[in-house]
Amino acid sequence: MEGMKKYYADVIVDISHEKLDRPFQYRIPEKLREELETGACVTVPFGNGNKLLKGYVVGIGDVCKYDPARMKEIRGMAQGGVGVEDRMIALAGWIRKNYGSTMIQALKVVLPAKRSVKRLEHRTLQRIMGREEIISLLGESRRRRQVAKERLLQELVDQEAIPYEWVTGKLGVSSQTVKSLERAGAVKVVSTQAFRNPIRLANVEEQRKRLSNAQMRVVDEVLADFDNGHPDTYLLHGITGSGKTEVYMQLVSEIVGRGRQAIVLIPEIALTYQTLLRFYTRFGDRVSILNSNLSSGEKYDQCERARNGEIDVIIGPRSALFTPFPKVGLIIIDEEHEGSYKSEASPKYHAREAAIEVARLHGASVLLGSATPSLEAYYRAEMGEYKLFTLKERLTGGQLPKVHTVDLRQELRAGNRSIFSRKLQELLADRLSKGEQSILFLNRRGYAGFVSCRACGHVMKCPHCDVSLSEHGSGPGRGVLMCHYCGYQEPKPQTCPKCASKYISGFKAGTQQIEEKLREMFPTVRTLRMDADTTRTKDSYERILSAFMGGEADVLIGTQMIVKGHDFPKVTLVGVLAADLSLSVGDYRAGEKTFQLLTQAVGRAGRGTVPGEAVIQTYQPEHYAVVHAAAQNYEGFYGEEIIYREMMGYPPVSHMLAVQIFGKDQERGHMLADALASLTRRYCDGSADSKVGQCPQEGRKVPPEVQVIGPAPASIGRINDIFRFVFYVKCPKYDKLVEIKDLLEEEVQKRQLTYELVQFDFNPVNTM
Ligand code: ADP
Ligand code: ZN
Ligand code: ZN
Repeated sequence: MEGMKKYYADVIVDISHEKLDRPFQYRIPEKLREELETGACVTVPFGNGNKLLKGYVVGIGDVCKYDPARMKEIRGMAQGGVGVEDRMIALAGWIRKNYGSTMIQALKVVLPAKRSVKRLEHRTLQRIMGREEIISLLGESRRRRQVAKERLLQELVDQEAIPYEWVTGKLGVSSQTVKSLERAGAVKVVSTQAFRNPIRLANVEEQRKRLSNAQMRVVDEVLADFDNGHPDTYLLHGITGSGKTEVYMQLVSEIVGRGRQAIVLIPEIALTYQTLLRFYTRFGDRVSILNSNLSSGEKYDQCERARNGEIDVIIGPRSALFTPFPKVGLIIIDEEHEGSYKSEASPKYHAREAAIEVARLHGASVLLGSATPSLEAYYRAEMGEYKLFTLKERLTGGQLPKVHTVDLRQELRAGNRSIFSRKLQELLADRLSKGEQSILFLNRRGYAGFVSCRACGHVMKCPHCDVSLSEHGSGPGRGVLMCHYCGYQEPKPQTCPKCASKYISGFKAGTQQIEEKLREMFPTVRTLRMDADTTRTKDSYERILSAFMGGEADVLIGTQMIVKGHDFPKVTLVGVLAADLSLSVGDYRAGEKTFQLLTQAVGRAGRGTVPGEAVIQTYQPEHYAVVHAAAQNYEGFYGEEIIYREMMGYPPVSHMLAVQIFGKDQERGHMLADALASLTRRYCDGSADSKVGQCPQEGRKVPPEVQVIGPAPASIGRINDIFRFVFYVKCPKYDKLVEIKDLLEEEVQKRQLTYELVQFDFNPVNTM
């Protein structure tokens, strides 16, 4: 960053967190002006006695914000240590540099919020009957088909105490059921004041599995690298049930045995009781969980326990990555393809990349696991940056479901206008007659306004970006199709440009309509619906799941929230109503997300002993995301998708920076977006030219190193009266994008914006 003089530095002397918002300004001595950078560790005189303290630089500038006569000077650079705090500062510095934000924002991500630790009341369900009596109650509830009660009693056979939230939450047991067991004298609910590990282990003999050869190979190789002092990043690709979790646990135990700590990241929604229990049985009191149910006081408490060496393993969502362990040896990211690993607030870091940096700082290994790896991870593995392992077999038996792909265009031609294809109707009737359960899945992600032809399946696409066009919101833009990458527009056609059919629009059914149609067709069907409307309250999600698990409905209808996390052993049919809905989002990841959702949805059928079937209804049966999901063929999908990314210059082959502009005034916001985009273009033209000049012998024009696309209004152009604009910068080199981010950050600082806000999103996961 040339142009700015480095005269003053904002220094935090104590990162106990109340003071984070109040850095002290110091003068930078002449001799340090070159080398001093944000994130550096310095010594400064502090307070009346000018005691020398260690501090961290969180900002550098040329404006004096304080009485110059009284301003003190930085004494010198301090030895950057290897303590927990120094690593956290280094990590915050890395996040700031690579994702764009202030140092303070970055520090707030990596440091746990310090609060006065208010010990909250915890309720625990305690077993007060003997094990034998519980077993006899269990038999009784089994006979009476009281499914939820049976599930709880089953747990109580081995556990003396279970945290109450888990009983009603993850275990899906209603409070009425708990009360009836209380009345029967089987359990009592007790309050615990201090935070203790939620589970007391009642002599559970852990049944350690003998690892298969394929599992063993992963463990051996990861450990060998670790022991040789070359810990690395690994991708474990294996379908659900192939034994990934067993590998994680074995590795965690080996690493802990070497005196190091392990971090296990799991998407919140997949934090099932069963998974936690497996870790608890294995690691007992030395493992702890972070989840959104914890108050900030409890989170802080957890961090203190980690810092003090009271635990070795933490399991939790994205933020668990910043647990202040003294010496991490292993980081596991399960379901690494999940979108929730990317932060939606600034700094918009990705946990996968941040984990690799944390591992670098500690000398730790990183293991990524998934049944449907992100294109990013698989591509890095292909490039040799990560080592790839594949687990191919399901260890518990259970066959993959039989999949029928139905062409909805043919249904229309055959005169079937119903939202259920003939095949789906036939199979639903069959399941209802047998008393088996079904799931109907409406893939509604990004439902917002794409336009396609119901007769031929044609989807209106941007000629420049090869993503679907979206019908632009209400108001003056009505009837216009727009690309949210480059701003390209065209009028909405009245008939299909390919087949001239007038059936041109989206698939407009919601879950409620599906439920109604289903009841028209099968008047006695018992249904449950799970979507944004029915899951407003905190525990409604768990309540619906538990009702369905308990056999209270024949069909569960829902959006993507039903295909993640939970296992439904009694479901033998899954119907995907319109696979294309997510295929046609104006987003370059549409194919990848569709493949993942379809694969997960299909995998819901036949988890139990009865083999399952799945029906995928689609207007684009020939689309490779549909074809390969139906065949559960990840490699096939990857092979085609990566060619598309390469051709279009999308991540992971190239990198993409979204510059997001938010403003209260539409005109001003637009002007700022235009100004920043042209500044970027001017900057890049300069460097692209010099690049062309360097290799004249090639005889052909080197493709532009950097491409600037847009600005355009964001796909949701206005939220709460804040207008949103976005432009994209594509470049094969990440560093170049970081350079552009720095340039824009400096420009924004110079403009001292008060009405607009600018944010950066590297390799965005969701289109804005
Ligand atoms: P994933 O995490 O890939 O879904 P899990 O580790 O949960 O797979 O394993 C699936 C099932 O197979 C679990 O019930 C687990 O106990 C069992 N399992 C895993 N590894 C073995 C093994 N080596 N031998 C026997 N059973 C195993
Ligand atoms: Zn058509
Ligand atoms: Zn476009």
